[in-house]
Amino acid sequence: MSLQSERIQLLMQRLCLTEMVHGYEALAEQAAQKNLPYCDFLEQVLESEANVRQERNIKVRTQLAGFPDLKRLEQFDFKFPAAIDEKKIRELASLRFLERHENAVFLGPPGVGKTHLAVSLGMEAIRHGFSVYFVSLPDLLDRLVQAQAENRMRRKLAHLRKCRLLVLDDIGYRSLDEQATTCLFQLISERYERGSMILTSNKSYGEWGSIFQDNVIASAILDRLLHHSHTINIKGESYRLKDKRKAGVWTPPAAEPATSGGGA
Ligand code: ADP
Ligand code: MG
Repeated sequence: MSLQSERIQLLMQRLCLTEMVHGYEALAEQAAQKNLPYCDFLEQVLESEANVRQERNIKVRTQLAGFPDLKRLEQFDFKFPAAIDEKKIRELASLRFLERHENAVFLGPPGVGKTHLAVSLGMEAIRHGFSVYFVSLPDLLDRLVQAQAENRMRRKLAHLRKCRLLVLDDIGYRSLDEQATTCLFQLISERYERGSMILTSNKSYGEWGSIFQDNVIASAILDRLLHHSHTINIKGESYRLKDKRKAGVWTPPAAEPATSGGGA
């Protein structure tokens, strides 16, 4: 390595240009061979540094978001569910709903891809620079109730309110007691018209009263959630069971539980 290369590398390290340290020599050689103007070469090395930094940043924020699995929209087979509004999901993937602080609610029986779609929209949001936090409702409530007991509720809510997109998965798998319902109501009120939420549930809106054990609070929660929202009903059988069905290990029940919903 020439003395000049060493000096250049030291300068890059001092400036934390970590990608350039490894890649600039190859780019400099190519530029010399192709007789590239100096500015073109400078643009190339800066671009490679910026791209690597952006990818690293996306990776870290994806890890911090707490997704259970990394799922992309391209991996979703829209032909599998018996009914799904693909156009509506593509529209959500444009992320305009985030700019307008609207919510999206995925309703449907287990295994039809609600979590997959919620995660893929969350990952898309991260790629576009939005802060995202994913949590299942049972986990969130455990954490909120604990925060309340330790007098940290305000701080915890501030953290959950701050992210641009909060994904609340699995509403309806467990019914909520009064304390948990109050915590959830507080969170939803705090986020109302300030940040977007994506919710998933195996229960139709009509059944939400039984989750919260109180119809008045259920309506107050739904009122805030659905004021600016998109509801996507997914119908069909579980994707998890499709291979088992093919192999004859499992036969679907005669009728799927009906799922219905309103919203904008
Ligand atoms: P739900 O949240 O509705 O219970 P999930 O999103 O967890 O369902 O889906 C269960 C599994 O099946 C996941 O691994 C998911 O990626 C996959 N899956 C579901 N629907 C589809 C689909 N239409 N195309 C591809 N994979 C799917
Ligand atoms: Mg799910």
